[in-house]
Amino acid sequence: ADRGNKPHVAVLANSGVGHVVPLLEFSKRLVVGHGFRVTFLVVTTVDPTPAQDQLLNAAGLPRDLRVLGLPAVDPASVVPEDSALTRICLILSYPRALVVDLFCTQALDVAGELGIPAYSFCTMSAKMLAFSLYLPTLDREATGELVDLPGPIRVPGCPPIRPDDLLDQVKDRENEEYRWFLYHVSRFPMAAGIFLNTWEGLESGLLRVLREDSFYRQVPAPQIHAIGPLVHEDGDAEGLRSTDIECFAWLDRQPEESVVLVSLGSGGTLTTEQQVEMAWGLELSQQRFLWIVRKPTDASASATFFNVGRDEEDDPTKYLPQGFQEKTREVGMVVPSWAAQVAILSHPSIGAFLSHCGWNSSVESLAKGVPMIARPLYVEQRTNAAMLAEDIGVAIGPTVEEGRKVAGREEIERVVRAVVSGEEGKRKRRRAREIRYSSVESLSAGGSSHASLAAVCEDWKAKCRGCEEV
Ligand code: UDP
Repeated sequence: ADRGNKPHVAVLANSGVGHVVPLLEFSKRLVVGHGFRVTFLVVTTVDPTPAQDQLLNAAGLPRDLRVLGLPAVDPASVVPEDSALTRICLILSYPRALVVDLFCTQALDVAGELGIPAYSFCTMSAKMLAFSLYLPTLDREATGELVDLPGPIRVPGCPPIRPDDLLDQVKDRENEEYRWFLYHVSRFPMAAGIFLNTWEGLESGLLRVLREDSFYRQVPAPQIHAIGPLVHEDGDAEGLRSTDIECFAWLDRQPEESVVLVSLGSGGTLTTEQQVEMAWGLELSQQRFLWIVRKPTDASASATFFNVGRDEEDDPTKYLPQGFQEKTREVGMVVPSWAAQVAILSHPSIGAFLSHCGWNSSVESLAKGVPMIARPLYVEQRTNAAMLAEDIGVAIGPTVEEGRKVAGREEIERVVRAVVSGEEGKRKRRRAREIRYSSVESLSAGGSSHASLAAVCEDWKAKCRGCEEV
């Protein structure tokens, strides 16, 4: 086909890995599955992490998907070290372009002026989106802090949310992260539609609510399109590092469904105390594990966000508890900083995923049928963890014993054992498998996610029929 006549979609993403991953997959799908040309605009930072670099410069991107870096911003110049969300929002407030990413709603105005339909892509669950759409109302009506409200938060038609399970950003209304979050979610109704990386088999109840008139009467919202799962399959050999190859060689030697993968997203970092408990909990569990480990820090749970994988000399023996690696040599594999998570989750030896419950990681685990151990750290991960455990039934999480600040080693031991080799784990695995089947179904021709994206694509194509160049 003549490239010039293909309809053109612009996608704007912030450079956080958790946003680039699903938006890039979404763009590939538009190009490969629906005949669009896509310009992928990404707000780069001056010094991208190796993971960001690898994603954006991947050799295998389709020809009609063009990645363009917008003028780079130095994240260190905008706000203090520890506030990843504020930094992302400030960085994104510089350009004014056509926007899709959740934290890019400024560009909805520009798109409106140009008469271009602008859609938002929200890297969150339908449950979290329902809460976010309702937040401006809650903000107007509630007095005091939302976490101090007497009962659970009742988003119209949705299961109640315990204030404790709210994302950190909404726990302090004076905080600038709260103001940024509220600013963007208040603007969601300006979008022509919202894409979500979820699917019917995962969140059917919530998606039904989001389609009901009664919801729209109470909560301003555009149309919601569930198009997931969007999973970045990072298996091509060129993208693998030597540590990845070692991981696969090690995984190949382990029995089926016997290994717990421990990974905390693109920036998740434990405190020294949490790391010590995690290490000895794994050791006590006597289960096999593959741990993507980072240097602990007491500064912030997202401390590594802008720096992950930069330290080429990263040596876990320097920061893991003394004796840990010797004691676990027979059963454990430790990888510093970063590994090919999706490819690892696809390996038959993986039996469970101890995750921070970032939405991409959760989607990836379920698209691969792997049950989870929920260890949330920041942003909306606690809400996701509660949902995965209670609403969906694929996860269990360690509880923090009274009088302690962090989950102790015995508790880590208990949950790891329960999911990898206990009866409860079997139930969770069965449920995760069901969800995996539903994900395959939803993406097949005629499946709900496929149909949902195809309908929007048809609409876009109909709108630009007759245009020479869109
Ligand atoms: N990821 C990875 N290797 C790692 C850690 C993370 O490939 O060692 C990927 C993971 O597969 C996911 C993304 O980074 O696609 C993290 O996104 P998520 O939403 O789970 O968490 P966030 O990083 O936004 O907290």
